[in-house]
Amino acid sequence: MGKKQNFDHMKLIRQYAGGHTKLITLGRIIAAISAIIVLVPYYDLWKIISIAANNEDTARISHYAWSAVILTVLSLLVYIGALFCTHIAAFRVQANMRSSLMRRIITLPLGVFDEDGTGKIRRIVNDSTAATETFIAHQIPDKAVAAVTPIGLLVLIFAFNWKIGLLCMIPAVIGFACMMTMMGKGMQEKMKEYQNALDVMSSEATEYVRGIPVVKTFGQTVHSFKRFKDAIDGFGKWTTDYTLILRWPMTAFMTCINAIFAFIVIAAFVFSKDTVTTGLILNIMYYIIVTPLITVALTKVAYSGEAEMTLIDALSRVESIMEIEPLSDNKEGKAPADHSVELKDVTYRYKDATRDAVSGVSLKIAPGEHVALVGPSGSGKTTIAELMVRFFDVTSGEILIGGVNVKDIPSAELMKKVSFVFQDSRLIKKSILENVRMAKPDASEAEVLDALKKAQCMDIIEKLPNGIHTVIGEKGTYLSGGEQQRITIARAVLKDAPILILDEATAFADPDNEVKVQAAFEELSKGKTLIMIAHRLSTVMKADRIYVCDDGKCVESGTHGQLMEKNGLYKRMFDEYSRSIEWKVGA
Ligand code: ADP
Repeated sequence: MGKKQNFDHMKLIRQYAGGHTKLITLGRIIAAISAIIVLVPYYDLWKIISIAANNEDTARISHYAWSAVILTVLSLLVYIGALFCTHIAAFRVQANMRSSLMRRIITLPLGVFDEDGTGKIRRIVNDSTAATETFIAHQIPDKAVAAVTPIGLLVLIFAFNWKIGLLCMIPAVIGFACMMTMMGKGMQEKMKEYQNALDVMSSEATEYVRGIPVVKTFGQTVHSFKRFKDAIDGFGKWTTDYTLILRWPMTAFMTCINAIFAFIVIAAFVFSKDTVTTGLILNIMYYIIVTPLITVALTKVAYSGEAEMTLIDALSRVESIMEIEPLSDNKEGKAPADHSVELKDVTYRYKDATRDAVSGVSLKIAPGEHVALVGPSGSGKTTIAELMVRFFDVTSGEILIGGVNVKDIPSAELMKKVSFVFQDSRLIKKSILENVRMAKPDASEAEVLDALKKAQCMDIIEKLPNGIHTVIGEKGTYLSGGEQQRITIARAVLKDAPILILDEATAFADPDNEVKVQAAFEELSKGKTLIMIAHRLSTVMKADRIYVCDDGKCVESGTHGQLMEKNGLYKRMFDEYSRSIEWKVGA
């Protein structure tokens, strides 16, 4: 997913906020007013000190004291009012963002939701929108405060004694310069890396936890932990490097903004010369009270800069989803005339890839034919199968189902015509009944049970505590890869689509599962047009036709017998396969 960094993030926020933009502006103005009000008590304090020192009318002290208390409380209340406005706007922006994302995600090509993609999308929908919400709710009023406070402070500092004021400003200006070095373009880049490292660590952690049952069964503790550990180490290294980059500017910044006191002491020393007047002491006391405000203001500016970088990163992630081209859906399109599948000179290149994954492939499958796609790993078999159901749209060429271009078939109609069972078909955290019923929401329990029977799932159901009502993934109910695949086959049986795309599993933990999956596939594919991605050549011998893929091209086709006679890639693969079987049997 490509990321645009140079966009107007406030414009984007306004778009999501719609009518609530006014509340953001109002929140800003109110927060700025509270920042001005909060400075007035400092003037009151100065007055109190000066009245006390000069033994003037002490009755006025209580007047200034009350003014200080009331204004402090008032500024707090006004600030809460600002937060109120920005929080309402923030929740609205978050809700709008999430619903826009969900609306867009539904229209995206299925290929976007690969293993890597789903974790990223989940994080964007949850975390990036939450980061935006936090920014609007808290940082926007804080930024208004951070913008107004320095102006008020300058007035407070210079109005009373410009010389001391100037001295106080020296470390503040140096501190500000240090802060700016921490916020350049390079730092924005770092923030992106930080989020990416977090992404990797969180997806590895999820994978690790999800894999624990398998890990325990196969005793692979060290191996499976390694990827998770690598992700943690990667994150640790990144954090250390980042900290080292910030070491000097951050130290200088903190030193400067906290050194203002030291400068006041110097000021006292320089200006006192030999005579210490009450006025000078008062001035110094005043500055001792006021200058911590500079520290607070600069720290706020520094943190709001960091929050802004997080916001830009979050928004660019949200935009990376909104920018993905949705899959066109021709609702008025045509229905396929029959159950044939044809590829005409199909080429496909993955986004950002340097070469075609599928290049110039043509094949024709008649209704009811059973064909197999074979070839070395990475030869393009899965991509060809995925293109048939529009996981992606072809880069060039045409895919026809029942004589109609898949792009012209309404997507609901296409999904009715084609079922696919891929190796990583996922089950959701619901009961087996609901998982299977997803294929046909109005199916009766008896129909679901029949589908499960045909998909050879009865042994799985029998060992579960609540039969088909058992929720998968709850209370330690986990199914092995083969068992999960059989449940997804039951889904396809229930759907009963006339065209089937099957991805044979590459590896099974136990032979019993393998036999059952094969039997389930056989039952499922009866009377259907079948396209099977085959990994074991023993299963393709019965196919009406075998297509041999190599390097994205279809290099041979024919029955097993014809291909063996051809003495080409298929024969070489088959001989090698036979040897490996013999080797396994012999071993
Ligand atoms: P097979 O199923 O025969 O193993 P694939 O169709 O999975 O082959 O892959 C064909 C080529 O496309 C390979 O070079 C693979 O690296 C590449 N490829 C597969 N999926 C993606 C993807 N999501 N993004 C980029 N390249 C991919």
